[in-house]
Amino acid sequence: MTTRTGQDEAIVVGAGPNGLAAAVTLARHGLRVTVLEAADTIGGGTRSGELTVPGVLFDHCSSTHIMGAGSPFLRSLDLKRYGLEWAWPEVDLAHPLDGGAGAGALYRSVEETAAGLGEDGPAWRRLFGPLAADAEALTDEVMRPMLKVPRHPFRLARFGLRALQPASLVARRFRTARARALFGGVAAHLFGPLDQPVGASVGLMIIAAGHRFGWPVARGGSQAIADALAAMLTEAGGRIETGVRVRSLAELPPAGTVLLDLAPAAAAGVIGDRLPPRVRRAYTTRFRHGPGAFKLDLAVEGGVPWRDEACRRAGTLHLGGTFEQIARAEAEMSRGRMPERPFMLISQQYLADPDRSAGEVHPVSAYAHVPHGWPGDATEAMLDQFERFAPGTRERIVAADAKSTAELERDNANYVGGDIVGGANTPLQLTMRPRVALDPYRTGVPGVYLCSAATPPGAGAHCMSGHNAALSALRALGIRR
Ligand SMILES: Cc1cc2nc3c(=O)[nH]c(=O)nc-3n(C[C@H](O)[C@H](O)[C@H](O)COP(=O)(O)OP(=O)(O)OC[C@H]3O[C@@H](n4cnc5c(N)ncnc54)[C@H](O)[C@@H]3O)c2cc1C
Repeated sequence: MTTRTGQDEAIVVGAGPNGLAAAVTLARHGLRVTVLEAADTIGGGTRSGELTVPGVLFDHCSSTHIMGAGSPFLRSLDLKRYGLEWAWPEVDLAHPLDGGAGAGALYRSVEETAAGLGEDGPAWRRLFGPLAADAEALTDEVMRPMLKVPRHPFRLARFGLRALQPASLVARRFRTARARALFGGVAAHLFGPLDQPVGASVGLMIIAAGHRFGWPVARGGSQAIADALAAMLTEAGGRIETGVRVRSLAELPPAGTVLLDLAPAAAAGVIGDRLPPRVRRAYTTRFRHGPGAFKLDLAVEGGVPWRDEACRRAGTLHLGGTFEQIARAEAEMSRGRMPERPFMLISQQYLADPDRSAGEVHPVSAYAHVPHGWPGDATEAMLDQFERFAPGTRERIVAADAKSTAELERDNANYVGGDIVGGANTPLQLTMRPRVALDPYRTGVPGVYLCSAATPPGAGAHCMSGHNAALSALRALGIRR
């Protein structure tokens, strides 16, 4: 640990996973860190709490932590000591299809997954066996900015050849509806058209990482991720103040280093006139936000009555039917039209972490992909999707909490127009975000950095944007090479 004088005060604005990761990284290198958070509680997208009935615990946003478990930063810390423990369901992911065609099921084991995919088993094994074997090296590569000297050039090249393709092209390797849908549901984490170049990168990386690290939840709720980082920060001498919305750098106490866990336009507003015009244009005009999410949390008596056995044991489910049906819904959503049958992600976190339930009333979290800023209510369309694969769901719902794109943004200013992935995953922004720059964390104002999911490697509670931004700040201070 190195202590510097004169430059050793740092402020982090926003206590999301990236803000907290940045704060921990800075504090562990001897800086005196203060985190300022607008909300009354810390955690941003990793908050958890009771949203429906007492005793039933929901993750407000992020729930499944493939990239969290695989994060080089989180893996490097002994967070168990601070209360963070991963818990895995029996089935990592299930993807039901209409008409009793068995659901696709994803397991940690490539073999077990392939065994359930019939004639597509060998194709799954060929594609994901080598990627899963490389998963640690790959996460290490892709969770840093793109413009860099690769540490594992051959593995990255092998991944890159396929990652540059659209998901629709990679899906052609599979013949059965089950394997194509299983791949398509994960590929739809792109939150964009499945025929878009570079689009396959998201699905390939998540599946490869999932075969290595699984699809765990944080025991006791995703809040445990934020709480563990906060405990570590406090132990390293850092401080957190909640209920402080920062509007301008001028409001901040003197500090040599400021990290902003904010969306780019909000960061431009906070930085004000000191932001170079070309960076301001990049943050406010060129940077594109992605489609939105509509969130629906359900307290369900006895759990969702899925038709398919694998779905009843799965921590995560993708609802949307076949690859082609999902591709159509994602294309419509990307063009700004609300699909009749939106693509949905479901979390049954209680299966891995039973203490989240109150007796037989279980938390089931869902969100649908909707157009950016969509003002409507997707509840009925989402319940119809549940009924499609689990008839009788409606009768089991004890209480529900729904959040529109506007309500998501009201709860967390970073979710602009309901965009929960920190910016559209266009081919350019997938590789370089929030602007084309060797060091994407720098804002052009000395000592001021952007550290939110709008910076590489993008969305997810993996903390790598925050950690990478803090490393950039430490380099500028001469603390790390
Ligand atoms: C419904 C939903 C489901 C998701 N599911 C998953 C999942 O399963 N797995 C996964 O890995 N990721 C998931 N995500 C994405 C993940 O939550 C985000 O990518 C992640 O939280 C981004 O972290 P961050 O620190 O960049 O920003 P955030 O978590 O958004 O934190 C930003 C913080 O800054 C604060 N803030 C904003 N403006 C100001 C200001 N002016 N002054 C002070 N504080 C301010 C906010 O209140 C917030 O606490 C999901 C997100 C949502 C919404």
